[in-house]
Formats: sequence, structure tokens, C-alpha cells
Amino acid sequence: MSRSSACSSCDKANCPSQGRQSGETDEQFAQRQKLAKRMESVKHKILVMSGKGGVGKSTIAANLATYLALNGRTVGLLDVDVHGPSVPGMFGLAGKSPAMDGDSIVPLDVGGTLRIMSIGFLLEDADAAVIWRGPMKIGVIQQFIRDVQWGELDCLIVDCPPGTGDEPLTAAQSLADADGAVIVTTPQDVAVSDVRRSISFCRQLALPVLGVVENMSGFACPHCGEITDVFGSGGGEEMAQSMNIPFLGRIPLDPQVVASCDEGKPHAYFQADTDSSKAFEACFATLLDLTGHESKCPQERMKEE
Ligand code: ADP
Repeated sequence: MSRSSACSSCDKANCPSQGRQSGETDEQFAQRQKLAKRMESVKHKILVMSGKGGVGKSTIAANLATYLALNGRTVGLLDVDVHGPSVPGMFGLAGKSPAMDGDSIVPLDVGGTLRIMSIGFLLEDADAAVIWRGPMKIGVIQQFIRDVQWGELDCLIVDCPPGTGDEPLTAAQSLADADGAVIVTTPQDVAVSDVRRSISFCRQLALPVLGVVENMSGFACPHCGEITDVFGSGGGEEMAQSMNIPFLGRIPLDPQVVASCDEGKPHAYFQADTDSSKAFEACFATLLDLTGHESKCPQERMKEE
């Protein structure tokens, strides 16, 4: 399994001039070229993944996007979590629809430097279950990367569906030159073993793992401040060490984070002085640094690793 073979003439994994792949129809070839062309104006691509749902992957993706935008980056946030698109709600954009411009989709703008697109914007009823067969989900993920007017971006963050199925695979394969994946986990053992599978998925795809975030790590009592390790503690860090990948840090379980998500006010902006916002900042520091540099081709990066 691989993400995409490199172009024979320039070594870039997603080079639009790369030749037709075996078995590819004219239409598929044209669409793949269009996708690669669209991504040429995006300097960095980061996928946010998790082994299972409910660990706070979208929360991390939304706050990472907010944090990078607050720090001068122009950011795109693409939510392709087909079964739980929570990004619109996290930015107070639930019920909004993106405009069309010819045959491309205009992402929703937040504050001028954050552009958001979510599968949630296409659902007429937010409470309805999405019952789509695999090819439909794959098609929609590719379309959102290819047909959205992302423009010039310092970084595109993709909030992937949980697990290691077709959908994260499509996202990873469509972004063949992505910088890598941020893996979100909670400290308890089950989530940690799920996340090991995500890491091995990235390795099979030659997608670098940028690091692991341990979310919901310790609950600070709002009354006495005592920290209770509801889901255990340190599992994510131990796992990162044992699998030889960076540990980005811990985010505490904080009722204010839930409230920010529910109110559609990104925590990293509206609650910037809280301990949990500082924890987000600490986790995202290396990613801020990464997105401030020119992107390198995957071959160059792998040589350095
Ligand atoms: P996922 O994308 O992994 O399914 P979400 O980001 O949608 O998970 O988060 C699931 C729920 O957990 C949401 O209600 C969110 O507000 C909450 N949550 C996420 N991170 C935290 C945290 N650090 N503290 C408290 N609640 C959190």
C-alpha cells in the first residue's frame, strides 16, 4: 500500500504532470490532475487522525486551525468526518451552506485567514444518519480537496474520520505530499491500542507521524483544583516513546472545552488564558514552526528522518 508514486521527471509525489496510472480512465486522470493542481497553492498539509471516535480529534483539529490562524498562518480546515462532522458546530457555523462559484465550492471564511469546509454543510438535517456507501464517501472526500477554492494556504488541516478504513486512506492518498499526521488519543488502554493501529497505518502509507496528542488527560476539579486521572495518565506518552514518534503533549479534560465546542467558540481564541488553552499551545508549537517553513518534497523529508 502506498500513497502515490513519485513523478519520474521531478520526484514530486503529487506532480500534476505525472503520467496516467494503470487502469485509470480519462476522467479519473483528469480529476487527479485537477486535485494536484489545486493543492499546488497549499504549502503544508496536516491530517488529524484517531484510532476511534470521541477522543477529541475534531476538537484538536479545530483548535489547531484556530491557533495557526491566530499566529499569522492562512489556514484551511477540511472536515471529512462523514459520520460525525462536528467542525461546523465548533465554529458556530451549523446550518450554513457554502456558496458555489462555477463548478467550485467557496469555503466558509472565519476572520479572513481561516477557511472551513465540512461535510456537515451539505447535510440538510444535522441529526440524520449519513448512510453512504464507500465509493460515495471516497468521492466526496476527493471532491472536497479538489473542488473547494482553498486559494493560497500556509496549511490545510484535514479532520479525518476515525479508524483506518477507506476514508482516512482516501484522505492520505489524495494528499500524497502531506507533511504528516497528528494522532489524537485518550490515555486509557483501549484508545491507546487503537492508536497503535493508526500509527502502523501511517507507516504503511509512508505518511510521517508528526506526533501524538494525549487528550482528556486528567480532570481538574473546578472546586478544589485536584487532578483526577479519569482515564489513567501517561499512556499516550509511553506509547509514543515505545513507537519512536514525537509526543506533542497533554490536554486536560476541561468542562470549558466542552462548553466552547457547544457554543461554537473555538477555545484557543475565546478562552486563551485558560490552562487548557496553554496546553493546546504547547502541543501545537512544533506545528506552528513547521508551517512557517517552505514545504519540502516527501523524498527530501524521508532522507532527513
Ligand atoms: P472526535 O472528533 O474524536 O469524535 P470530538 O472532538 O467531537 O471527538 O469531541 C468529542 C466530545 O468531547 C465533544 O463534546 C468535545 O467537546 C469533548 N472534548 C474534546 N476534548 C475535550 C477536552 N480536552 N476536555 C473536555 N471535553 C473535551
